[in-house]
Amino acid sequence: MIKHRFYRHLIVIIILSSSSFHFAFSQELKERTKSVRLGDQTVYLKIFEKPGKDIVFAHVHENEVAALEAGKQILAKHGGRLVTLMHSSDGTKNRNVTFTHAKTTYQFDPNRIYSVDDKVLFKTIRIIKGNGKVDQNVIDIVKNLATQIWGEMHDLPYIVAIHNNKNTPAEVKTKWLFWHRLEPESYSVNSYIKSFDQSGESNKSCSDIYINPMVNNSEFFIVTERNDFKMLSEKRYTVVLQNDNPVDDGSMSVYAYRKGKRYVNAEAKMGRVKEQIEMLEILLK
Ligand SMILES: [Zn+2]
Repeated sequence: MIKHRFYRHLIVIIILSSSSFHFAFSQELKERTKSVRLGDQTVYLKIFEKPGKDIVFAHVHENEVAALEAGKQILAKHGGRLVTLMHSSDGTKNRNVTFTHAKTTYQFDPNRIYSVDDKVLFKTIRIIKGNGKVDQNVIDIVKNLATQIWGEMHDLPYIVAIHNNKNTPAEVKTKWLFWHRLEPESYSVNSYIKSFDQSGESNKSCSDIYINPMVNNSEFFIVTERNDFKMLSEKRYTVVLQNDNPVDDGSMSVYAYRKGKRYVNAEAKMGRVKEQIEMLEILLK
């Protein structure tokens, strides 16, 4: 009987201490939301902060939930800032941002909007529905989102973008009964290697690659500074060094490099939270 009561007390103590621990833990992550007007819609930047490292984690692809989870866990442990973009209002999570303006629906990839060259944004923004066009007005609407996101990051010296990829091989997909389409191999470290005598944009922006054959091709870093390339390759982690004249495709890595920021992109396969946390730990050691 005494023993029984002892265990009951013990359980109560464990529950109390774990809930107060969780309370203290969540208290430490400060959270604020910034709304940004995007045509007829409003999108949101959620900013998490905790005193600690001078580092900002950038999460712009809403559907890459493993990256966000890994980033939050690392932030809670080491401190810093995390900026995440939330743009879907129907409960789904999407890679691309959709908005309407003047009865036309537009869509863009939120990692292709960081450029001083309006021509890059013109290429990024697609028309989904309606008779409008991608004019200066539309470009300025999208550019404002890029400015707002960058505005939450530029005061810190070290940017770590966190992404997830699908990592699927090339395959023939049947769309309708008689319509087959070849889906190319999805984005991975292989995208940076010149293949079949053809240079893609990723390959044209790449200076050096180190590949650890034991690491899956979905888990890799992209860095803008040779010191980071050296550090990661010495630790035998797969890493791509962006060259000093990268193709301006509107991605944050090219923009950060031009602004003289230390930038690292940590790529992991969708769902691999544990692996991505391990990758982020390597950067913080
Ligand atoms: Zn991404």
